[in-house]
Amino acid sequence: MEKRTVRDVEVAGRRVLVRVDFNVPLDEHGRVADDRRIRESLPTVRYLLEQGAAVVLMSHLGRPGGRVVEELRMAPVGERLAQLLGRPVRVLPDCVGPEVEAVVARLQPGEVALLENLRFYPGEEGNDPAFAAALARLGDLYVNDAFGTAHRAHASTVGVAAHLPAVAGLLMEKEIRYLSRLLESPEHPFVAVLGGKKVSDKIGVLRNLLERVDAVLVGGGMAYTFLRSQGYRVGRSLVEEDKVELARELSERARARGVPLWLPEDVVVAERPSAEASRRVVLAGEIPEGWMGLDIGPRTAERFAGVIEGARLVVWNGPMGVFEVEPFAAGTRAVAEAVARCPGTTVVGGGDTAAAVERFGLLGRFDHVSTGGGASLEFLEGRELPGIRVLQDW
Ligand code: ADP
Ligand code: MG
Repeated sequence: MEKRTVRDVEVAGRRVLVRVDFNVPLDEHGRVADDRRIRESLPTVRYLLEQGAAVVLMSHLGRPGGRVVEELRMAPVGERLAQLLGRPVRVLPDCVGPEVEAVVARLQPGEVALLENLRFYPGEEGNDPAFAAALARLGDLYVNDAFGTAHRAHASTVGVAAHLPAVAGLLMEKEIRYLSRLLESPEHPFVAVLGGKKVSDKIGVLRNLLERVDAVLVGGGMAYTFLRSQGYRVGRSLVEEDKVELARELSERARARGVPLWLPEDVVVAERPSAEASRRVVLAGEIPEGWMGLDIGPRTAERFAGVIEGARLVVWNGPMGVFEVEPFAAGTRAVAEAVARCPGTTVVGGGDTAAAVERFGLLGRFDHVSTGGGASLEFLEGRELPGIRVLQDW
């Protein structure tokens, strides 16, 4: 998949309207609690400024539901952006309308403006043509760098592209490059590590990757539906009863393709997902009645690590256990470290998985950590994301 990027168009002296993903978590004082998404946008913003563009940034923040919510104004985001950029950022009180247009019209090359929260207007999520046209009046060129919202057909991700030349930002380019490589030109051995809460969230990804990988490692909550489909008793572990049959079919499909699909051989069980609950390590076939599997066991972690380290390409989505609770974090940490050590190309996706690697201090140790949760899953399912489709092809 080849899309034109900011590097392929003339930006000097132009006003460039950039959709970024500044949907950051805020703390109880309304300050930015985690600025990763702002930092990820910096290469594009800096590039445009250095090239002599005037930059107009736009994003949503939270879920205001189409009306103004004071706590979800962009001001704290603008403040953090200004610190990171080392130059002033003009935070505007609205995202469309004559006043905003007047300010933007006077914006000079090298200057940055940040529009108010797009989702204060229902036209954003509704992809209202009039709202999209109003946004488009704020730039000569449109750049989408918000991979995390590219799976949504909103005014700022799709509608606006009908009015302006539309190209990818540098973060969007990186996301597309790494994720499409997994689907289009993977190196082998190619190993997929899947975990997280539910089978139902990952079915499409597993189905699509099964056609491409050399091994699949399954951990996390979704493993218990698979174990159940093989006839194991899993106590009170997370099981999606209506997906047991599907888990069986996917295992069959893997067998038919000669792709080993590894399930946990041992697991950490507890009576509750709490640090205080009593817990122990048992074989996957020996989960006691009334207990729940909350992490992969040490033997499984070691075996998974061995498979991962021998890969030339790894994609990992979904924690191996309830990593938020320290006694159940070891499996996820072991897998994270193995992926980090793997000499091959490593791609990590999923919101909670990214949070886990950040918490383990490993964020910089992978070739690519996707900034999109739902967007990366839809991409790996093989679906075309609407926010990418509208960008100019090569
Ligand atoms: P991602 O956001 O990376 O795609 P998911 O949202 O699918 O990942 O899953 C993450 C969640 O899965 C975490 O909050 C974690 O606590 C939970 N989880 C992992 N293993 C288990 C398990 N064995 N039982 C219950 N929940 C689990
Ligand atoms: Mg998640």
